[in-house]
Amino acid sequence: MEIPVRNPRTGQMDHRVAVTDTATLMDIAARLRLAQKGWRALGVEGRVAALRRLADALARHQEDLAGALTMDTGRARIARMEVDGVRGSIAGWCATVPGQLPEAWIQGRSNPAIRHAPHWVPYELVGVISPWNFPLTLSLIDAIPALLAGCAVMIKPSEVTPRFAGPLAAAILEAGLAPVLALVCGDGATGQALVDAVDCVCFTGSVPTGRKVAVRAAQRLIPAFLELGGKDPLIILDGANLDDAVTAALRGSVLATGQACQSLERIYVAAPIHDEFVARLVAAASKVRLNFPDIGQGEIGPIIFDRQADILRQQIADARAKGAMVLTGGEVVDHGGLWLPPTIMTGVTHDMAVMREETFGPILPIMPFVTVEQAIALANDSQYGLSAAVFAADLDQAAAVGRLLVAGAVSLNDAALTALFHEAPKQSFRDSGLGPSRMGMEGYTRFFRRQALIAQTGRPAPLSAFAEEAGG
Ligand code: NDP
Repeated sequence: MEIPVRNPRTGQMDHRVAVTDTATLMDIAARLRLAQKGWRALGVEGRVAALRRLADALARHQEDLAGALTMDTGRARIARMEVDGVRGSIAGWCATVPGQLPEAWIQGRSNPAIRHAPHWVPYELVGVISPWNFPLTLSLIDAIPALLAGCAVMIKPSEVTPRFAGPLAAAILEAGLAPVLALVCGDGATGQALVDAVDCVCFTGSVPTGRKVAVRAAQRLIPAFLELGGKDPLIILDGANLDDAVTAALRGSVLATGQACQSLERIYVAAPIHDEFVARLVAAASKVRLNFPDIGQGEIGPIIFDRQADILRQQIADARAKGAMVLTGGEVVDHGGLWLPPTIMTGVTHDMAVMREETFGPILPIMPFVTVEQAIALANDSQYGLSAAVFAADLDQAAAVGRLLVAGAVSLNDAALTALFHEAPKQSFRDSGLGPSRMGMEGYTRFFRRQALIAQTGRPAPLSAFAEEAGG
């Protein structure tokens, strides 16, 4: 079976992807499991060498990969950045993981004759299900540390953006990693089959699909690490540097056409600086250009998934109907592909979908607040808890507010820093996710189960030591 694939710049169905049927997927899983034994036995240094070969192969396939990603997403610069970013991520993990797992014996606290040592046992087969917004980055973000841990990995990219899978598979083959790293193609049914085939699943995508994956994983009693949607707030306190706040707000909302989990989707501004902030943001947003007709110019790419454009239209219409004012943008532009210019709104309330539901587009709704407590309450009034941002006159003040926000990562005096900085461990709060941090060393150690070796250095205790009359 084949699925037609839409081109986000033209709207044409100009590509087809062959679906991996369930029987084939199960065969691939069996083959990966077999190869995993040798992969694990290679040791971390051997796996580091293999992953470095993959980084080199990705460099050789840079043009093909970036070209395919450009077709998938309708943007060229971010496509190239995705390839560079993945190579950087491999280099970073390879430099960090050797020697990270302590294996030394530890003397018992309660009984010094007994000592114990940890043994780190990787999951045999890890499944990765990725979304369409950063197709390469999010297919490999969990796969790289899982491979270094000694797991085999099966990846299912989104059917919306599958073109990059061909050049990626070629690089994997060239690097000699195909026995332990496989790509399968298809839609939700393929994703479901993958969950049935693996020992641990890493899912990046929406909350509704994440729930389905979690239920399926729970039925199989396997862990599901979920990285889901967000509704990230930005709070700007009186005294903040307004130019910096405008710069960060615009980049945080508009970069990648807002199609990023950590995009800013709600802005709360202290009442005394509200009007000035809005005026400066409108001036800055008015200069943002679509990357159409020339893909080599502009800051804003097309909406990758046409159904997402319907959500954006609905949220704008709902906000307008309930009294919001649209100061810039506001209409999806149809050039075959669909673009939305930065859409700044004021007069919004939490009764509007644009303030409650994930937008995943370049819409910037702004609300004034009077007290800091009110700003915190508004920011926390959400089902999501992915990330947030605070601007203040100084970092201590920003951090004090940040600590009160229900979000897994808080950018201080900037926005959406989790897109640029991957070293800080963080979890997703509320409906935004489940499981240990994918960032920091936990992003690696989560792919091991801990086995305890517990050694008796004295003599085993006899049963008589537990007899009723024994002891006092
Ligand atoms: P979806 O949840 O629609 O899809 C994600 C992946 O799951 C796709 O590969 C999809 O396949 C697959 N899938 C669909 N149904 C099932 C199923 N029943 N079982 C298993 N897999 C299934 O998300 P989107 O692709 O629309 O991505 C956008 C979402 O991703 C946003 O909510 C965004 O916030 C979130 N996201 C979260 C990030 C984070 O780190 N927290 C980062 C980036 C995005 P197919 O597409 O082929 O149907």
